[in-house]
Amino acid sequence: MRSLPLAAALLVAVAVAATAADDPRPAKPKTENVILVMLDGLRWQDLFTGADEALLDKTRGGVADAAAVKKRFWRDTPEERRSALMPFFWGTIAKEGQVHGNKLKKSVGRVTNATNVSYPGYSEVLCGFVDPLILGNAKISNRNETVLEWLHKKPGFEGKVAAFTSWEVFPYIINDKRSGIPVNGGYAPLRGVPDSPEVQLLNRLTAETPLDGEETRYDAFTFRAAMLYLKAKTPRVTFISFDETDAQGHAGRYDRLLHGAHKNDAFLKELWETVQSLPEYKGKTTLIVTTDHGRGDAPVEWKGHGAKTAGAEFFWFAILGPDTPALGEMKDTEFTQTQVAATLAAALGHDYSAAVPRAGKPIAGAVKAGP
Ligand SMILES: [Zn+2]
Repeated sequence: MRSLPLAAALLVAVAVAATAADDPRPAKPKTENVILVMLDGLRWQDLFTGADEALLDKTRGGVADAAAVKKRFWRDTPEERRSALMPFFWGTIAKEGQVHGNKLKKSVGRVTNATNVSYPGYSEVLCGFVDPLILGNAKISNRNETVLEWLHKKPGFEGKVAAFTSWEVFPYIINDKRSGIPVNGGYAPLRGVPDSPEVQLLNRLTAETPLDGEETRYDAFTFRAAMLYLKAKTPRVTFISFDETDAQGHAGRYDRLLHGAHKNDAFLKELWETVQSLPEYKGKTTLIVTTDHGRGDAPVEWKGHGAKTAGAEFFWFAILGPDTPALGEMKDTEFTQTQVAATLAAALGHDYSAAVPRAGKPIAGAVKAGP
C-alpha cells in the first residue's frame, strides 16, 4: 500500500517532464525589458521604398532644395533608397529582427479604428482594441487601460514603466493620473531623475523653445529626456513617440519629413547601442517600432490622413530582440494594429489577450517564447 503513492508521484513526474520536453516554446523569454518607439504617421511607402520620386520637388513635395534632397536620399533602387533614409532600421532591425507591412510583398498591416488619426491609433496600439467612442485628438483621459498600465500593476513593473512623447496629448491617452505612469509629453519638464546640469539645461531649453500655442516639441527633446531617464531609472517598459514625420507631412514639407525619419533612425541607433552597453538591458531587451496610422498617396494626398484618406489605414511593425527570430522583411502576412499590445506583453512572457479578451493576439512569429 505504501508504494502506491510513490508510484503515482513518479508517474506524475514523468508526465510533467514529457510535457515540458514536448513544448517547443522556451519556458521563459529572455526579454526582461521592452522599448516601444512610434514614428507618427510615417507611411509604409516611405519606410519600405525610401524617398518618393513623385514628391521630390517644390510643387508637390514642398521641397526647398530638390538637388540637395536627391543627393541625400535618392538612389536607383528601393532597397538603396530606404537604406539611405534609415540606415540603422534596414541595416540592423531588418537583418536581426523582423519588419512587417510591405504591401508590395503582400505583408499587410491594418489600422482597425475607423478614423486613421492619432489618438485613436495610439489607443488601439496601446490597448489592443478599438474604443468606438474615441474619434479624435481631444484631450480626454482614456477610459481604457493600456498594456502599459496593465503591466505597471504586475510585480516587478511598479515604478518601472515610463513614457516620453513629442505630442502633449499622451498624458491623456495613457491616463497618467489613473495609471501612475510618468508621461513626459510636449513641453513638460523632465521629472523623476536626479538633478544634474544636463537635466537642467534640457528643461530650460524645453521651456524656452515653443512658439506660442505649440503642442508638439521637436523629437530631439523627447529623445534626450528618454535617454536621461533610461540611464538613471532603467525602466522595464519604455514608450517613446516621435512626431516630426507627421508634423512635416501636415506642413507639406516632404524634405523635412524625410529629414525627420532620418533623425529618428539615428535616435534608434543610439538607443539600441546604449541599451546594449548597459547591464540592465544588454541581451534582454526587445525593441518594437511602429506607427499610429498611414497617410494618403503621392502626389496629392500624402500630406494628410483620416477616415476618408485612401491608404491611411495601412501601418507597419518592426521588432528586434533576443526572443524574435531573425526573419527580416516579411512576405505574405496580415496583421492589425490591435495586435501590438499583446505582442509587447508576450515578449515579456505575459498573455495580454487572455487577460483582455477583446485585445488582438500577438503577431504570429514575432516572439518565439511567451505565454
Ligand atoms: Zn497627423
